[in-house]
Amino acid sequence: VKMELYRLHEIISELTPLLWADANLRGQSIEVRLDENAPLLMLNHKEIKQLILNLGRNAMEAMGEKGKLTLEMRLQPDGVELYVTDTGPGIPPAQKERLFEPFFTTKSKGTGLGLSLCLSIMERHGGRINVESEEGVGTTFIVFFPFVSERI
Ligand code: ADP
Ligand code: MG
Repeated sequence: VKMELYRLHEIISELTPLLWADANLRGQSIEVRLDENAPLLMLNHKEIKQLILNLGRNAMEAMGEKGKLTLEMRLQPDGVELYVTDTGPGIPPAQKERLFEPFFTTKSKGTGLGLSLCLSIMERHGGRINVESEEGVGTTFIVFFPFVSERI
């Protein structure tokens, strides 16, 4: 996979019209908080677009009308975090451990491949993906992109 230097906020900006269109159809709202001063990251543009779309669509599918999806970038000392937060029903603890397994789905027409793909994308990027969820409150997927090492 080809890795190039990108600014995360530029990739997110390319996707927001798509996410907005989906959210509008569902009667949901989106808030995007970008950090335009975050340093360049080594990314595969296509894979990171896919990752953000997968997380955004899962969030929207989990929420009912009036749900709110928030995408937020947070600069950390060693990299950039992306928080994808929804106001959906949350994830039961027993399911949480299985989310990233291929073919794990709770949807009648789900493939269960979205999150397993997200995990392999982040492994290729030397990053991480984690989930925090509270039943009845919502879910946050936290994606971490490490800064490019000076030694490379
Ligand atoms: P699919 O969307 O095809 O079901 P995914 O791998 O994308 O497959 O997601 C696997 C499962 O994780 C979903 O079926 C759902 O149960 C759970 N899940 C993912 N994202 C969320 C979310 N934001 N809120 C609640 N459950 C979620
Ligand atoms: Mg999915």
